[in-house]
Amino acid sequence: RSGKELLGVGELVTGYGAEPVLHGINLQVKQGEMVALLGANGAGKSTLMRALSGLHRPVRGGIHVDGVNLMHLRAEEIVKHGVVLVPEGRQVFPELSVLDNIRLGAFLYPKDMDTRVEEMLTRFPRLRERLYHRAGLLSGGEQQMLAVARGLMSRPRILLLDEPSLGLAPKVIAELFAALDALRDEDMTILLVDQMAALALALADRAYVIEGGRVVAEGSAAEIAANDALAKAYLGGH
Ligand code: ATP
Repeated sequence: RSGKELLGVGELVTGYGAEPVLHGINLQVKQGEMVALLGANGAGKSTLMRALSGLHRPVRGGIHVDGVNLMHLRAEEIVKHGVVLVPEGRQVFPELSVLDNIRLGAFLYPKDMDTRVEEMLTRFPRLRERLYHRAGLLSGGEQQMLAVARGLMSRPRILLLDEPSLGLAPKVIAELFAALDALRDEDMTILLVDQMAALALALADRAYVIEGGRVVAEGSAAEIAANDALAKAYLGGH
């Protein structure tokens, strides 16, 4: 994919208290690309995703989307610039219906609500069957699909997915990843964190490996998948 850069992260530093967790992260995502972010537990992937979406305050560096500087903007302003996080652990509203959860994703853009809800139900047919159920009663996979649908209702230009496959059965993961593949075919730009490194690399165009808050490797997904040392460290078991 030779699109133009959509997301640019430069020398991003942040942490909790005095101790930095990210020590100057550089990465780029082009329009229409799917980029995987790999790394062991505690490497800083979630912190990066939260910093990009304004949920965690970056200390230094730059975050640009389509040339606009998003550093120090609040989360709701960042969403308006098209950066939408589907957080780890799904975080649907368990007491609300599936339909209401989907609708909540459109709080910024209530126009054409019914048409867009319908699009989501076509994309995730399981949600149609559960439309009036409480979200808390859905299976893990259905909740993850709901979380993605809710994110898509915010009209993302770039979708940040943090561990979407966590805790899901292989068959459900395959279904979810097929939905992500379809999104990418529609030119959605995606930054994906997932412990299922081999699966993420099979889907992604490029990948970054983060270790101790630093990018230690980057390349095409095929290059990263073929790198023996990285495979040992990150792909083992998957
Ligand atoms: P995981 O896959 O386990 O979520 P990760 O790569 O996403 O790992 P982060 O969750 O970003 O890693 O955590 C990076 C480091 O920051 C870890 O050392 C973690 O203990 C620390 N950390 C994360 N959240 C907080 C917090 N709220 N307060 C203090 N330290 C935190």
